[in-house]
Amino acid sequence: MTRILHRQIDANLRTASGGKGVELFDQDGRGYIDASGGAAVSCLGHGHPDVVAALHAQADKLAYAHTSFFTSEVAEALAERLVADAPAGLDYIYFVSGGSEAVEAALKMARQYFVETGQPQRAKIIARRQSYHGNTLGALATGGNEWRRAQFKPLLAETHHIDPCYAYRYQEPGESETEYGTRSAQALEDKILELGPETVMAFVAEPVVGATAGAVPAVAGYFRRIREICDRYGVLLILDEVMCGMGRTGTLHACEQDGVAPDLMTVAKGLGGGYQPIGATFLAGRIYEAFANGSGLFQHGHTYICHPMACAAALAVQEVVARDRLLDNVKAMGAHLSRRLGERFGNHPHVGDVRGRGLFMGVELVEDRGTKAPFDPARKLNARIKREAMNRGLAVYPAGGTIDGSRGDHILLAPPFIIDAATVDTVVERLGEAVDAAI
Ligand code: PLP
Repeated sequence: MTRILHRQIDANLRTASGGKGVELFDQDGRGYIDASGGAAVSCLGHGHPDVVAALHAQADKLAYAHTSFFTSEVAEALAERLVADAPAGLDYIYFVSGGSEAVEAALKMARQYFVETGQPQRAKIIARRQSYHGNTLGALATGGNEWRRAQFKPLLAETHHIDPCYAYRYQEPGESETEYGTRSAQALEDKILELGPETVMAFVAEPVVGATAGAVPAVAGYFRRIREICDRYGVLLILDEVMCGMGRTGTLHACEQDGVAPDLMTVAKGLGGGYQPIGATFLAGRIYEAFANGSGLFQHGHTYICHPMACAAALAVQEVVARDRLLDNVKAMGAHLSRRLGERFGNHPHVGDVRGRGLFMGVELVEDRGTKAPFDPARKLNARIKREAMNRGLAVYPAGGTIDGSRGDHILLAPPFIIDAATVDTVVERLGEAVDAAI
């Protein structure tokens, strides 16, 4: 009997009683390799002594002080560190408690920027289908996952969606990657022109699509073209790196690999590695200056912004990632994982695609490899794979998107940055067994 309204009422959840390194343990002491870090959260794994020590020290020193009275040393130190390594021009940062809050803040910063700079008619948001930007109302309105949005539509602001850059689904036979990237980005220019460029506020996208499509990076050149289009029409580019950011793809920020810097960028999950709830919105200097030279404030705020405990966790996590050169391991183990997944699933009759970057990999399941037709959603394949994997001591994230109106099945892998090759091999072996048992 539980008094908690869990995500799914009949989920029959096991109790997580502990965690050490890449493993979680349930109430009976059974271990599970945390191969998705929850949903790309636990980048350092569990029980990291340096992070635990930093949290103890911060709790001893200062747990909370309201930001309308004080800043804190730890929040300033974290900001300094993150801005120093941010994509070009992102000179300021705003700390919140998670990914959805970071997206809400980015949207409001974009809107306030245009109000402060004399373009109040700019309010329209363009985003992409097969995207997820969070579950609060502004973030949900922005995301393109119809399954999540459907019943809440009357509460959602109007957002305009274009197709994502999703080569497996939308690249035409005979079309080169470059041609496809150009055509895919053209959808943004067409939409801006259709809506009226002077009314468009921002374009929002995940550099590597996570929860709805299962680790889908754009083809080379797509985001550079997107950046050009945004610049041409004065539209702000918001990149949502809540899932794919903070080292997950092998570089600190995923957009580094696309060769672009956005005007606003959101991060969360791997920022604090799950040791505390924390997210952040990076903003360009010109947006900060518009506020500083205009109203003198950002008209927003939550009780827990810049929370010292959350900032202490994030600072410790980021220090460990840098000190232990863990992004090198993300690259090496990402390549190993990709190879092993290719060997196990390359000829599998129900695996259409294996893709991703770094330790952020997706496996897309299809009923028919030839037609790429997804399985009937009534089969609840994702849920069955998750269950079969748990029975084999493996926790993986079943990403579920919308493909042409029906729900597609993907498995998302996002293990801790500390994983080794032998554990990667075990992950792929258990996953292969789980997929075969579920189908
Ligand atoms: N943006 C992206 C890309 C995400 O993947 C998520 C969560 O999965 C969010 C935003 C929302 O983050 P949160 O669940 O921390 O509110």
